[in-house]
Amino acid sequence: MKLKNLFIIFALGATISSCDICKDYSKTIFTTFYASYDLVSRIAGDKFEVVNVTPNGLEPHDFEPTARKITAFCGSAGVFINGLGMESWIDNLPKEASEKVFAITEGIKTSKINGIEDQHVWLNPDYAVKEMENIKNYLSKIDSNNADYYENNYQNEKVKFDELVNYIEDIVKKLTIKQLVVSHAAFGYMCERFGLEQIYINGLEPEEEPSAKTIEEIIKSVEEYKITTVFTEELVSPEIAKKIAEEAKVKTDVLYTLEGLEEKDIGKEDYISLMKKNFEKIRKSNS
Ligand SMILES: [Zn+2]
Repeated sequence: MKLKNLFIIFALGATISSCDICKDYSKTIFTTFYASYDLVSRIAGDKFEVVNVTPNGLEPHDFEPTARKITAFCGSAGVFINGLGMESWIDNLPKEASEKVFAITEGIKTSKINGIEDQHVWLNPDYAVKEMENIKNYLSKIDSNNADYYENNYQNEKVKFDELVNYIEDIVKKLTIKQLVVSHAAFGYMCERFGLEQIYINGLEPEEEPSAKTIEEIIKSVEEYKITTVFTEELVSPEIAKKIAEEAKVKTDVLYTLEGLEEKDIGKEDYISLMKKNFEKIRKSNS
């Protein structure tokens, strides 16, 4: 056989074995958005490959997996979802894929906003720790030989998250303005944990259009609480928030919901660094 033909066969082999259908996903865990990806990675360490299925820059509320991804789910070690209605596509998965689904928010007490269960539990660092505990327990079950490894990772991360909570509490106790105007109602659990109040432009779905009455009420709240900043988000168009800020004569700044990362932040930022940035911005909005 000519060398050239051999090359073609090798090249073809490489393409086929790396396609979604033929690849071995038994050591892969799929997650559905950035915060979950971060939390799962902290516990799984080097024992599993963690793959986030929401493409960068896409709002996870709008995401639906392709047929190809669903095939990959079937052979994977797990599809770790947030649950609580965040991944509405989960109900339509074939049986082989849905058997791999695990909701990492299991056991977390949720609340409702406008009658709908609020999914954004990860923005309360205590709940993020609870999620990591759930992840640790699940991984210890499917890979019991490494149970000590997962327990150790969990204990180390818990220390880091406790430090984060202290860092946030130090900032919050000096705040004079306890109200935050935010783009969509993602910060309910975070605000509740630290004694703050979110005033949201959109509800739980980021792309809802607020009514003229809602906008008017927000502007009134900005004046009443002497709010200096309207917070927008990385993945949601800031148009309406900017209009409100303009009308109320205040600034805008970006808060991270951790639902996705911007291209420039990949590999540089993580849950802890972005939460610190969030509270630095909140501190700044108070001065
Ligand atoms: Zn959201």
